[in-house]
Amino acid sequence: MALLKAKVVVVPLGEVDFMMINRLATNIGPIFGRSVDILKGMKMPEEAYNVVRNQYYANILMNKLERVKASTKEMVLGACEEDLYLPDEPYVIGHSDAVSGTSLVSLFRIRQEFYGLPEDESKVYTRLFKQSIHQLAHLFEMTSCRNPRCINYYSQSMIDIDRKSEKFCDICKRQLADKK
Ligand SMILES: [Zn+2]
Repeated sequence: MALLKAKVVVVPLGEVDFMMINRLATNIGPIFGRSVDILKGMKMPEEAYNVVRNQYYANILMNKLERVKASTKEMVLGACEEDLYLPDEPYVIGHSDAVSGTSLVSLFRIRQEFYGLPEDESKVYTRLFKQSIHQLAHLFEMTSCRNPRCINYYSQSMIDIDRKSEKFCDICKRQLADKK
């Protein structure tokens, strides 16, 4: 297992809040037992923008993220402020692909502003953190958890995200211990 300690790299996409990305990168490492690098930011690719939907196509971003990998084992987490979609999903808050080792999170719908509420950085950061850990867990080939309190619980609504804790449940902890 020691030979498999590839890095996690965080890629800021577009004009994403750097303080938040920095904090996220610092907190991810100890959870997965990996070192984390923040790469130089990448522009939001024009070709991913869908004018009709006013959203970005997540798969194009995922392909771009895959290309920054320094090795096949490296894991990439991209973060952006823009709204994302997939052909079968009206919007995407977080998405990952274990085969390519890439994850993507969007702050668009986790910001309080989206709901017409005053901005609350600590709340937004906590949601970003939970989403990112859940997505990275997929890259560690962990399946989504059924425990609504576990950080690895599949949650698409803000209520679900806010309700879950910032920690893995005992089952997930054990699963991760085998994989990290
Ligand atoms: Zn769990």
